[in-house]
Amino acid sequence: MSSSHEARRDASLGVYLHSPFCVSHCTYCDFYTRAFNGESQVRSFVQGLAGGIRLSAEDLGVVGRAVDTVYFGGGTPSLLSPADLEAVMQALHATFQVDPGAEISIESNPESVTQEKLSAFRSLGINRLSLGVQSFEPAILQTLGRAHSAARARQAFEEARRAGFENLSFDLMLALPGQSLDILKQDLNTSAGLAPDHLSAYLLEMDKETALRARIERGELKAPTEDDAADMYELTRSVLTRAGFRHYELSNFAIPGKECRHNLKYWTDLPFVGFGPSAWSYLDGRRFREAADLEGYLDAVRKGAPPRREEMQGEARERIEEALFAGLRLVDGVDLANLGRNYGVEDPLEDRHQAVRDLEEAGFVSLEGGRLRLTRRSYPIANEIFQVFV
Ligand code: SF4
Repeated sequence: MSSSHEARRDASLGVYLHSPFCVSHCTYCDFYTRAFNGESQVRSFVQGLAGGIRLSAEDLGVVGRAVDTVYFGGGTPSLLSPADLEAVMQALHATFQVDPGAEISIESNPESVTQEKLSAFRSLGINRLSLGVQSFEPAILQTLGRAHSAARARQAFEEARRAGFENLSFDLMLALPGQSLDILKQDLNTSAGLAPDHLSAYLLEMDKETALRARIERGELKAPTEDDAADMYELTRSVLTRAGFRHYELSNFAIPGKECRHNLKYWTDLPFVGFGPSAWSYLDGRRFREAADLEGYLDAVRKGAPPRREEMQGEARERIEEALFAGLRLVDGVDLANLGRNYGVEDPLEDRHQAVRDLEEAGFVSLEGGRLRLTRRSYPIANEIFQVFV
């Protein structure tokens, strides 16, 4: 462990909580999810999760640590009832010192919330809602296999505001089959018109094995070309920045001050702990993952064992590379001296100087004042740029 990782031992932690249930499986998604069969199934999961938080926290040696961000992700964690979420929050408070000003986020889908439920979430101290909207175009929602209509998405947003959420985020998707620049522009204008505090805009990833990709490969649907995708990305940037959002990460835009504090921990190499099946933790420079399947997870907890399965060892070079790629996702880029200090090395670029010079000459990255950044033209092809560093 480097001295800098030791020095960051006292940093406040982020906590990620994973709930794997979804009402149906969206056609573009390759996450591990489980069909939602009603509240009794969820209740036994919640009991296991509450026990698992304590067991894993003891095992990781983080009981009593300060926590300043909490993120309920999944899956669709908003399928959990307020009583279930309360049980998880109690387990967190019993295990950690949760900062009174902590950012506490929940991912939610429009069909899984009601005005009443959102008000109950708010009373539990949940203060940030991330709503999976993806598109306001009915035909696109159908292609994506989403369980909600565009009207329901708008309504859920308004209900969340009425419930007192002052930090509201939307997820949108770009470069979808059937999506033209005009359709996207309408989605962006509708989104900006609702005035969320934060927006995530993800390009459809074609390297994942999904039902949607299979339909595109069979020729049943036509995906936009790479050039179209780049135009859509640029349109998104331009509409949202003109509407007052700051583009702060490749896929994320925020009203200044409303950047997601939890996700910033991932991009700035800060520690977090994850609980629930397949959740990751990053602590003292080491990465762990909890048992990936629900039964394995619950079984371990029943036996009183921490449901942690793997530690990703990784050579120092790989670990620095991961931190470099994560940092390069930020529009402000990476402070190389800081990165080197965190990993106890003088030169975090090691043998990548020539690659950086080539990319700089070609206009894909900039290196100024010790900060390495992607340039705008690299944003839609960031994964390809990262390959040059590997
Ligand atoms: S709701 Fe989210 S996690 Fe669930 S299947 Fe759809 S995209 Fe995947």
